[in-house]
Amino acid sequence: MNAVTGFGRPEVFTPVSRVESYIAAHDFAHPTLVIEVDAVERQYRALSAGLGRAHIHYAVKANPHTAIIERLVALGSGFDAASRGEIELVLGQGASVEHVSFGNTIKKASDIRWAHNVGITLFAADAEEELDKLAENAPGARVYIRVIVDNPEADWPLSRKFGCASDKVMQLLGFAAAKGLVPHGLSFHVGSQTREARMWTNTLDQVAAIWHRAQAAGFDLQLLNIGGGFPAFYGEAIEAPTAYARSVMALIEARFPNVPQIMAEPGRGMVAEAGAIAAEVVLVSRKSDDDLHRWVYLDIGRFSGLAETEGEAIRYQFVTPRDGDDTGPCVLAGPSCDSADVMYEKRPIQLPLSLKAGDKIVIRNCGAYTTTYSSVGFNGFPPLDAVVI
Ligand SMILES: *Cc1c(COP(=O)(O)O)cnc(C)c1O
Repeated sequence: MNAVTGFGRPEVFTPVSRVESYIAAHDFAHPTLVIEVDAVERQYRALSAGLGRAHIHYAVKANPHTAIIERLVALGSGFDAASRGEIELVLGQGASVEHVSFGNTIKKASDIRWAHNVGITLFAADAEEELDKLAENAPGARVYIRVIVDNPEADWPLSRKFGCASDKVMQLLGFAAAKGLVPHGLSFHVGSQTREARMWTNTLDQVAAIWHRAQAAGFDLQLLNIGGGFPAFYGEAIEAPTAYARSVMALIEARFPNVPQIMAEPGRGMVAEAGAIAAEVVLVSRKSDDDLHRWVYLDIGRFSGLAETEGEAIRYQFVTPRDGDDTGPCVLAGPSCDSADVMYEKRPIQLPLSLKAGDKIVIRNCGAYTTTYSSVGFNGFPPLDAVVI
């Protein structure tokens, strides 16, 4: 239903979910992420069904909203926390310490000591110095070593910063044992937004080779932590969550038949589709009369929640009240006075030619990696609001 105002401006787009109905029915003073917690629960159940015996440790950084954490605690989820703040958050919502892992490979000694004191016993590492810190501040802790993998197929790869290569993994397992830690297992991350389950194959082969090498060297590994990578729908086809998770588990069981414990850390795949952002068009312009592209400036950009447009890696879907009108290519930019605040330029996006300042715009499937990437008051713009329905 398009309610047309005196200026010929349709105010309402066609909602396709509870979140979008809520956005259609409300006005927002600032860009706002609307999250449906029931949708997170549905996704948790769908992923769990496919993951079978693998225990979910939700990657808190994807969306740490207390309503999400509270619901996941109630559902029996575990949590992968990256910092003292995230551990405090999940424990404060009722998670028990044995369901929380400190999965960042880069931790301050003081935070390790704090986590150890509150009862966290499972930690990640990928370097000698990190194991030194763990041995000193969390004596006897269980440690999994993060493996570096090549993952050219993910839309948002994480390959270079974390993990270590096969020889180093072997050294670190031995070093951990020598320091009185428990060399408990291995972890990896296939790369965020790995759209198809079959794209895990190459990564799993690399990890399995290291796993078997460690077993042959006498390490009694107990835990395989398969990380995240579960995809969300951003316009390109993905498999349904249960089928996807089931396929990934089949690939794992074929390569790691007797691994005692498997842990999965979905972030994006758990929460992205549970939220949409209500935003607004601030300006539509052309740089010259014969400019083929319009510039569309929104009230949200790279620094106010849409950081994953970096490199144009994640391509969000935009819904406007004028969908159905003729479209043309646009460069899409944010409202701040930083020239890097351009979201899509190399591959412009198609938006209605009739789009105007003041039009409401909905950005779909934004429940992951948005609120926490929003700067605090850059140019005086408030951080991205969040509303839970
Ligand atoms: C970010 C992160 C995840 C979640 O990744 P997604 O691709 O969002 O599922 C999982 N594990 C670790 C260690 C992470 O840093």
